[in-house]
Amino acid sequence: MQTTAKIKPEIRKFKTAADYTCNFIIRDQIDPYLKNGHYINESRIMRQLADAAATPNPNDPVRIREILAKSRQIETLLPEETAALIQVTDKALLDEMAATALAVKKAVYDNRVVMFAPLYLSNLCVNSCEYCGFKSCNSNQKRVMLTMDEVRREIEVLAGKLGHKRLIAVYGEHPSTSTAYIAETIRTAYAQDIKAPNGAPVGIRRVNVNAAPLPIEDLKVLKEVGIGTFQVFQETYHRATYKRLHPQGTVKGDYDWRTTAFHRAMEAGVDDVGMGVLYGLYDWKFELLSTIYHARELEAKYNIGPHTISFPRLEPASGTDLPSTSPYLIDDDTFLRIVMITRLSVPYTGMIVTCRESPESRNACISYGITQMDAGSNIALKGYSEYESQSPQEQERQQFMLADTRSLEEMITYLARQGIITSFCTAGYRCGRTGGCIMDSLKTGKEGKFCKINAVLTFREWLDDFASEATKKICEPVLNQELQAIQEHLPLFYPTVKEHYDRICAGERDLFF
Ligand code: SAM
Ligand code: SF4
Repeated sequence: MQTTAKIKPEIRKFKTAADYTCNFIIRDQIDPYLKNGHYINESRIMRQLADAAATPNPNDPVRIREILAKSRQIETLLPEETAALIQVTDKALLDEMAATALAVKKAVYDNRVVMFAPLYLSNLCVNSCEYCGFKSCNSNQKRVMLTMDEVRREIEVLAGKLGHKRLIAVYGEHPSTSTAYIAETIRTAYAQDIKAPNGAPVGIRRVNVNAAPLPIEDLKVLKEVGIGTFQVFQETYHRATYKRLHPQGTVKGDYDWRTTAFHRAMEAGVDDVGMGVLYGLYDWKFELLSTIYHARELEAKYNIGPHTISFPRLEPASGTDLPSTSPYLIDDDTFLRIVMITRLSVPYTGMIVTCRESPESRNACISYGITQMDAGSNIALKGYSEYESQSPQEQERQQFMLADTRSLEEMITYLARQGIITSFCTAGYRCGRTGGCIMDSLKTGKEGKFCKINAVLTFREWLDDFASEATKKICEPVLNQELQAIQEHLPLFYPTVKEHYDRICAGERDLFF
């Protein structure tokens, strides 16, 4: 007789790197998603870029303002509209685009920046991506896979000393650190009984993951242990470049396994996904337009776009000279333009700029619509517990070098001086506000209201548990201004918010809406 009991997803185990490399990819979990043609159609993308460049007046203010009006309505742009924005050169129009990008960010995300920290768990890797310090052929790299005790020590510093609540956990691709290991490290990160210096109970409340593409069964396991966002960077959408930088015969060498990573995630119920291009590998205009095609593909098939888009840019790393020799490296102005056009093209998405970027570039990005940042980051393996406050840059234990080495407290005070509140909110997925549900509330501005409230509550927690008196003095005016805004704009809700706020001031923790 057939049983109707829920069958636990089966994850396959691989004993050797060779076995993993040969057998990990499941063709039946690629082909169905591409049966009507690939959503990245290179000749169409090239043609759209060429058409936009050949238009008699790429700076036509009427056409550009029509497009900007769509962004203001929080509508995803058509690829030809993004292509038109890419070609604008007129300074006044570019300024208008920047102002609109900021207005869109404020409409969807208010004046908040969500804070997170990267945590590197393993640099074991079976692949040989040309640009990465972790590539298997780089013998300068000391290979490390954190034990659960070591994970706990990292979490103690991140959550107990710095006050982080949200992580992006990063893994190389290797049979020893695949799904079972990822799941165990997530469980370990959540299961902490940690105290802040003042004795308040603190801990990690959301673990996002940056890892290799996975099969559906494996993603279901990660869903069960409470993964936040599943982040996979495409690196480059350009097939020939992809092939050149990711040797054939490696797992990562399979372009279609990677371009369907989020289709499988959606099937598995992991509906918060984070995309990104590694800028500097190929022509930025092609990559940006391809990102829009990827976002639109997910919207069309699953009614859910990317939860976040990241903007990694090629950085110096051990064992590669590509970061200085690639003909496609982008300057800071182009980087900002990419951020701005992405904000306008996918208005609802969260956008992340990390400590790889210089302080100047990160400060500028905030005015172009960035919503998430890290700070006080250490991307060396065991970097937080072994180095803590010194944050040295150790090339042989880390993937690439960081440019913004400001501490978390410095970053938070910088933001507060700009009138921006730092949010440690992790409520979304814990309240079931993920994927399509959160997309709708972002587009209509509803999510912004929850986030505003949760930003106030979590910022209050962080100030009480971790901030110096000087920092509190700088940050409290922003907090009070936000509380006042809640009172004005959400008068019916305000008494409950204030009651929660007062309970936090009295020592309760982890209250959210
Ligand atoms: N191993 C997984 C993968 O490749 O998908 C995930 C972890 S990998 C360490 C995370 C990301 O680091 C890659 O997707 C790539 O975009 C980025 N990366 C690699 N080398 C880099 C470099 N030299 N500069 C900046 N980012 C780099
Ligand atoms: Fe390995 Fe990822 Fe680095 Fe490629 S980018 S070498 S897959 S860690």
